[in-house]
Amino acid sequence: MRIDVYTIFPGIFSSPLREGLLGKALQRGVVDIRVHDIRDYAQGKHRQVDDVPFGGGPGMVMKPEPIFEAVLNTLGYRWEELDRLKEEVRVILLTPRGRRLEQSWVKELAEEEHLALICGRYEGVDERVLEHLCTDALSVGDYVLSGGEFAALVVIDAVTRLVPGVVGNRESLQEESFSGGLLEYPQYTRPADYRGWKVPEVLLSGNHAAIAEWRAKKAREWTERQRPDLLGQRGSNEDPRENDPD
Ligand code: SAM
Repeated sequence: MRIDVYTIFPGIFSSPLREGLLGKALQRGVVDIRVHDIRDYAQGKHRQVDDVPFGGGPGMVMKPEPIFEAVLNTLGYRWEELDRLKEEVRVILLTPRGRRLEQSWVKELAEEEHLALICGRYEGVDERVLEHLCTDALSVGDYVLSGGEFAALVVIDAVTRLVPGVVGNRESLQEESFSGGLLEYPQYTRPADYRGWKVPEVLLSGNHAAIAEWRAKKAREWTERQRPDLLGQRGSNEDPRENDPD
């Protein structure tokens, strides 16, 4: 999978793309992530990437020209090939006005060969970018961040861990939260007794059927308590262990 990121703050990505699973996947070439500075495609002495909003109002808005130029140039498309670009690349604008990202959409994006993520700043991005360059508008949640970079990192992390070869043990993806419409059951590790706080007996029993039953019960109880909205959605009646991300 290839992901191109467009930002005016490329430095934000350096450390997250070097560390952990993602860093290893990049080193091994399982995923190819390229971060582009939108300012490199801005015109004029000051390479201006923002301007005042038409109609007035606070703050600045990101100009369309540098974003179009950055995407077309880096991906190798001409102006008259905008439609083909959108057929071949999923071009996603990060915005709180977008469709909220959920695991089902993450799975869909993980099957794409090529994503492009456009990060906004200031009051947002000139709407013509969304109308004529993007295939999707994506929000990471109902809150406002100062920039799309953090949202892009959320998308990159959530999506790439589903790409085969990124997470070593694929089994761990099958039981985790949202996979079966439920949140995950509680996890414990050694020591079995920490300051008198004991791990539930059943997990030490070696009885796999009893452990599975306990986990399914806990997953349902926890989901009922924390996210009742998930219950009743497709897949929530299923045993989380039976849901394979493939
Ligand atoms: N004025 C905008 C509004 O009210 O919808 C908010 C702009 S925000 C301060 C600047 C940038 O951060 C946005 O253009 C977007 O790229 C990013 N951003 C902020 N919150 C986000 C979210 N929940 N999901 C995705 N991107 C977000």
